[in-house]
Amino acid sequence: MPPVTLACHAMATRFELVLHGQNPAALRAAGEEAIGQIQQLETQLSLFRPESEISCLNAHAARGPVRVSPNLFALLQQAQRLSEETHGAFDITIAPLVRCWGFMGGSGRLPRPDELAEARAKVGMALVRLNPGDLTVQFSREGVMLDLGAIGKGYAVERAADVLREAGVTSALVHGGTSTVQALGPPPGETCWKIAIESPSPSPQTPPLPLTTVPLKEEAMSVSGVRGKYFESGGRTYGHIIDPRTGEPAIGAVLAAVVLPSATETDALSTALLTLGAAGHDAIAKLRPGMRTLVVSESGGRSQAEAKGLQLRSAA
Ligand code: AMP
Ligand code: MG
Repeated sequence: MPPVTLACHAMATRFELVLHGQNPAALRAAGEEAIGQIQQLETQLSLFRPESEISCLNAHAARGPVRVSPNLFALLQQAQRLSEETHGAFDITIAPLVRCWGFMGGSGRLPRPDELAEARAKVGMALVRLNPGDLTVQFSREGVMLDLGAIGKGYAVERAADVLREAGVTSALVHGGTSTVQALGPPPGETCWKIAIESPSPSPQTPPLPLTTVPLKEEAMSVSGVRGKYFESGGRTYGHIIDPRTGEPAIGAVLAAVVLPSATETDALSTALLTLGAAGHDAIAKLRPGMRTLVVSESGGRSQAEAKGLQLRSAA
């Protein structure tokens, strides 16, 4: 039986669903419900929609507490915990720095030192107060802005997979822009889904090399990469993932991947691992039992890959 496939555009990327089973009509109905869930989350969480719940929160929370939907409050609490666990490497208050480096809706630029200093003063989870009593969020100063860009796609993939599971789908793959993928069961006749990761090429002339093939079963994987969005200046590459500790684009790694049961967690933690680079690999890999990780760093035009629980295909 050929799989049923569905796709939609949301969160500035393409989400795709591949569903296996015996009843194509039921699979399509489940897939359409999952797509509906992704689109609903896009409407709620997108920074690029002025009417989204996150945009309204960003616009008003410096002036007083703003009540948010229970699911958004839970996601913000989860983001806060992940920020604490990664010692701030993952930080959803990064938005002023993302904007200052020209990556918010643009492809990047060098900021002036005064712009950078101003943006840094508006970043840090300590500036966000979450009140579980009444599900309100308040910022302690003007200019604080939340960006769910490093966790929202994973959250949407996970919620879509939940919808499929509840509809009785037992074999499926859901991905958002190929950066986060969640597997339900294995494909028919196989023991697991097999997802390839390519080594990022240092230049457009160099083709990417296959780095590893990750077996996935009832698990999610996220990949974060510097070259997802970047610009070059003075011989240096500046990527869209910002190290909150320095206020500068992260330089510790060019690619990071994380495998865990939850796509929300893999999304946040692959961004954290990219931020910390090889120096933070042990610390991130210890956060969850059974976590599989990969970090690729570059120096002097050569790249080096380090994996935990994943088999590297060849020297990167
Ligand atoms: P991802 O591709 O999941 O690693 O997410 C990258 C996006 O998350 C960036 O384009 C920014 O919008 C945002 N971001 C950048 N740096 C960080 C960070 N250190 N923590 C959380 N979000 C970040
Ligand atoms: Mg991420």
